[in-house]
Amino acid sequence: MDLSLVIPLYNEAESLPELKAWIEASLKDFSYEIIFVDDGSTDGSWEVIQQMAAPNVKGIRFRRNYGKSAALYVGFEAAQGDIVVTMDADLQDSPEEIPEMVRMIKEEGYDLVSGWKQHRKDNALTKNLPSKLYNWTARKVTGIKLHDMNCGLKAYKADVIKNIEVYGEMHRYIPYLAKNAGFDKIGEKPVHHQKRKYGKSKFGMDRFVHGMLDLMSLHFLSRFGARPMHFFGSSGILMFLIGFVMTVCIVVNKLYHQANGLKFRAVTDQPLFYLALLAVVLGVMLFLAGFVGEMIARSSTERNNYQIKEKL
Ligand code: UDP
Ligand code: MG
Repeated sequence: MDLSLVIPLYNEAESLPELKAWIEASLKDFSYEIIFVDDGSTDGSWEVIQQMAAPNVKGIRFRRNYGKSAALYVGFEAAQGDIVVTMDADLQDSPEEIPEMVRMIKEEGYDLVSGWKQHRKDNALTKNLPSKLYNWTARKVTGIKLHDMNCGLKAYKADVIKNIEVYGEMHRYIPYLAKNAGFDKIGEKPVHHQKRKYGKSKFGMDRFVHGMLDLMSLHFLSRFGARPMHFFGSSGILMFLIGFVMTVCIVVNKLYHQANGLKFRAVTDQPLFYLALLAVVLGVMLFLAGFVGEMIARSSTERNNYQIKEKL
C-alpha cells in the first residue's frame, strides 16, 4: 500500500463525508487507507465513520477524549502504508496537496514533509499572530527551519512514525521528535488552507502556553535527558563555589578587622552572609536534583534505546 492517511477527529461529524469524497477525488492514482481516529466524539462522528467503513476506510474509537497526540499515536501504530500522511478532519487541510508531498518524499528523499499554511484562514489576532511568534521561537530552539511546525497536514516515511513516540501534547513538535530520532531531512510545502466550514476550533489560547512549556521540556530532554547531572551538577557546583567564595570573604574580612583592632560588623549583620547561605543551599539542592535525575535516567527503559539505521 502506498499511503496511510491518519485523521484525528473530535466532534467533526458534518465534515467527514465531504472529507472522504475530497480525499477520494484527490488520490485516484494511489492505493491508500484512511484511518479515522475518533478521539471520544460525542456528536455522532463515530456513526458517520461506521457508515463510511470499507476495506480501505478504517476507524478507531477512543472511549473518551484523550487529545490529538493520543489519536495520532494509535493512528501511527495502525498505519500500514509506505508513506503516512496526517491531516485534520475539519476540511481546513486540502488533500489535493498530498500527491506533491508524497513526490517530495519519494523523489527528493525527504523523511518528512510538513505543510505550511502560508495564507492562513484563521482569526488574525488570536491565532495567526501568536502562531508566527511561536514558530519563530520553535525555529530558534529546534534548529528546524519550518514556518509552520504545527501544521496538521504532514507526510512521513513510515520509518519515521514507527520510530518516534508522540505523547502528551507533543503533536506540535513531531518534526523535532523526528529530528531527535535522527531523521533530519525535513522539508516544507506551502499548502492551501480553508476557513473552518463546520464546528469550531478545539484549541484555545492556552495552546501557546502549553506549546512553549512543551518546547522547553523537549529541548531540555533532548540535551540533558540522558545525563541530567551534567546540567544540574555543573550549575550546582557553580552555585556552591559562589557561596563558598562569599563565605571565605566574609570570614577573612571579619578576622582581619578583628586582628587589627578595626571596627567590624557581626557576620549575621551583613547582606552578603544571607546571599552566601542561599547560594550554598541552592548549590547543594541543584546537585541533589542532578543526582536523583541520574538515578531515574539509569533505571529508565529508554536508556539504551538507540536508532539503528542499517546493519551489515
Ligand atoms: N482534535 C482531536 N482531539 C482533540 C482536539 C482536536 O482529535 O482533543 C482534532 C480535530 O478534530 C481536528 C484536528 O485535531 O481534526 C485539529 O483541530 P482544530 O481544527 O480544532 O485545530 P485548529 O485548526 O483550530 O488549529
Ligand atoms: Mg482546524
